[in-house]
Amino acid sequence: MARILRINLSALTATTEEVPEAYRKFGGRGLTACILDHEVPPTCDPLGSENKLIWAPGLMGGTIAPCSGRLSVGAKSPMTKGVKEANTGGAMSQKLARLGFKAVIFEGKAKEPTTVKIEKTGVSFGSAASLAGLGCYEIIEKLKGEYGDKVCIGCIGPAGDMRLTASSIMFTTPDFHIRVAARGGLGAVMGSKNLKSVIVDDTGSNLAEVKDQNKLKENVAALTKGVLGTHFLEGLRHLGTPQIVMITQTAGCLPTKNFTMGQFDKAESICGEHMEELLKKRANSKTVHACMQGCIISCSNVYTDENGKFIVASIEYESIALIGSNCLIGDLDMIARINRACNDAGVDTMDVGSALAVAMEGGLLKWGDAEGALKLVQEINAGTENGRMIGSGAKITGEKLGVKRIPHVKGQALSAYDPRILKGTGVTFATSPQGADHTAGIVLPGPHHPQYSPIEPTGQAPESRFMQQWMAAIDTLGYCMMIGMTFMEEKSKQLHLNMIGALSAVAGEEYPDTYVADLGAAVLEIERKFNKAAGLTKEDDRLPKFFTEEKFGPGQFVFDVSTQEIDSVHKN
Ligand code: SF4
Repeated sequence: MARILRINLSALTATTEEVPEAYRKFGGRGLTACILDHEVPPTCDPLGSENKLIWAPGLMGGTIAPCSGRLSVGAKSPMTKGVKEANTGGAMSQKLARLGFKAVIFEGKAKEPTTVKIEKTGVSFGSAASLAGLGCYEIIEKLKGEYGDKVCIGCIGPAGDMRLTASSIMFTTPDFHIRVAARGGLGAVMGSKNLKSVIVDDTGSNLAEVKDQNKLKENVAALTKGVLGTHFLEGLRHLGTPQIVMITQTAGCLPTKNFTMGQFDKAESICGEHMEELLKKRANSKTVHACMQGCIISCSNVYTDENGKFIVASIEYESIALIGSNCLIGDLDMIARINRACNDAGVDTMDVGSALAVAMEGGLLKWGDAEGALKLVQEINAGTENGRMIGSGAKITGEKLGVKRIPHVKGQALSAYDPRILKGTGVTFATSPQGADHTAGIVLPGPHHPQYSPIEPTGQAPESRFMQQWMAAIDTLGYCMMIGMTFMEEKSKQLHLNMIGALSAVAGEEYPDTYVADLGAAVLEIERKFNKAAGLTKEDDRLPKFFTEEKFGPGQFVFDVSTQEIDSVHKN
């Protein structure tokens, strides 16, 4: 039976323990919230010794279920000051699950920068002094040289060392590219514990425990076949998330010039179709790449320059829009380089991309100045005053530069959808306990949702509630949100039942057809409870005023969902 691994960094000890009853029904995001709720004082200093850093595979982690190897990283966030789960691909979740761990809890604070190694035979601790001052790419190369290429590495970069509020935690994929637990500044929490890197070696381990293998196989076969036939995956499987650029451009909600416009005159230079054309001519690139074992969609890419030299993997829609159109940067190669600099510093491309646009609005950089933006991000590693500012994200950058229009909720930058056109998504940005985030439950129109109008000011709360519950459950099960979105299609009702069947097979229990939505609702309730106890109020569930006041696009839209409707999304 899976156990909890508790690592005390103050004492440099590791113990395993049975999973308490209260934690059992959860994995992934739900488990991180549940552990925070039971073990972390909600009003504690996020960078103090009372906060805990939790890494949890989902309930399906370590099994043969498709795309089920996402890792949930949780802690009280130094950015939102509330509950936080940052979700990532890479190899970490599968390795931890196969070693039999339902979660790893890092607590206390080491005396000096420390590397932790977790393997079948136990946990060991070493000095991370040799990694001081290095960027993440060099850290990973060095650790790979030391520990071999069968391990998974989780580490922080200079931004995490400096406890900057936009710092992230980087994880390696099976082929040693970088995936990122990006949001909410959890790299700073890791840095505050003097935890520099974690190496996990699952040599000698097996697939995670499953109560009914045959039932799992049947449901997984049906899921795989059904998912690959869904409409949602058609473009995603060859263009990846960059395909969204032309979709949001056409809909008029592609963030442009710090959310002053919804269409970018150079969108065709930064879109997925253009990326595919470029990369097909470039050596060593990939337009299709899986970020973790068991992925059947492969929406990632490997981006190289015109000489075939590696720049970054993977470049995603959110980074392209927030570093690109939102800063009026129309050169995909430069966006890739800025993305790489963010990865090297160990920061969130979304918050730092948004901070660059805010810095442009504040006059620190000229609009569209890609070279200036790259240099500014590179200053994070050097720890200059401006580097620290930009590495702290949009809110701190805006406050420091006196900018009034800062697109954030609960201190976290909005991801790349303008809420004046996508109002249900705006309601999610406002009310998610996680702060504004595309993984929290975006509400999209489309063939899968024919009756839905995203621009109506009413009727958005139930749509947002449903998607928030759904995504909270998907993150708790450990599925990638890409596969999670396919379950939404009308013809996917059977897939939904197969998903519940697969979970029943793993757990050895039968669940009702409503189980997924119920699970998501339970997770949100815990997260909201933690936030309330941490001091967040309904006033924190609001979009920045400029979205409600500044008319936008040819339709002259504002975000006009009433506060009464917004407050009706959650019970607590
Ligand atoms: S669908 Fe994309 S993000 Fe999800 S696991 Fe596969 S490659 Fe990673």
